[in-house]
Amino acid sequence: MEITGQAEFADRLFGTAVAELDAAGVARVRSFLQRNVVMSNTGHRDLINFDPRSTAVVKVVRHLYEPVPTRLISAGEIALCPTCRLPALSADLPEHGTIWCEAEVCPRDKPVTSSPRAADVLLLHRALRLFLALPGLVERSCLERLRDAGTPLSPRTPGTYIGRLDGTDGIVRFYDRTCATHLAGQVVRDQVTVAVLPATTLDYGFRRAFENFLPDDTEISLLSDEELVLRKTTKEKADAKR
Ligand SMILES: [Zn+2]
Repeated sequence: MEITGQAEFADRLFGTAVAELDAAGVARVRSFLQRNVVMSNTGHRDLINFDPRSTAVVKVVRHLYEPVPTRLISAGEIALCPTCRLPALSADLPEHGTIWCEAEVCPRDKPVTSSPRAADVLLLHRALRLFLALPGLVERSCLERLRDAGTPLSPRTPGTYIGRLDGTDGIVRFYDRTCATHLAGQVVRDQVTVAVLPATTLDYGFRRAFENFLPDDTEISLLSDEELVLRKTTKEKADAKR
């Protein structure tokens, strides 16, 4: 799937939508978009976990959702992957090892449990599905694990955090569904110093390609979610014992 320019486009769509909001409003909208890849189109509000403030959020984000494209509709329904919650590319059971959802790496080991009628829902814009909702999974899981361990990251801007790693404060952002060359460009543009990806993405080849495409004078740590949690919790516990 072609993804060039989509990350920047996602940031622009989001930035424009929240331009008038205060920091708390921006955080609420971001969280809503990350948690709701589909939104009700017909008043079947049970598709969304409505809290009293969600109505205001829905007004801000409504234009970021579109009718479900026909290529994602099968028998009138859109199947959502049970692992990443992004649309399945095929409702049929593909062979083992086949790409079957938009995240492209999910195992096909669970039954599809959510397949709303396509006419009843609107789908989050594709750039935001891939570059806001998808990395939101590793982001939320990491933030929760670090908070539970007593070593939370501090919010910096929407989507970036400050975290003390190896004695210095790093600017941390979470990524997913990106290739190494695109990621190298993205992290430079985002001005982060620590890029965190799901452990399943980060093999030796990915790390090497990433290093090769970074400009010479940039130092960026590429960590898996597990490495971030481990490094942060181990270091701070060691410091606390001193
Ligand atoms: Zn998936």
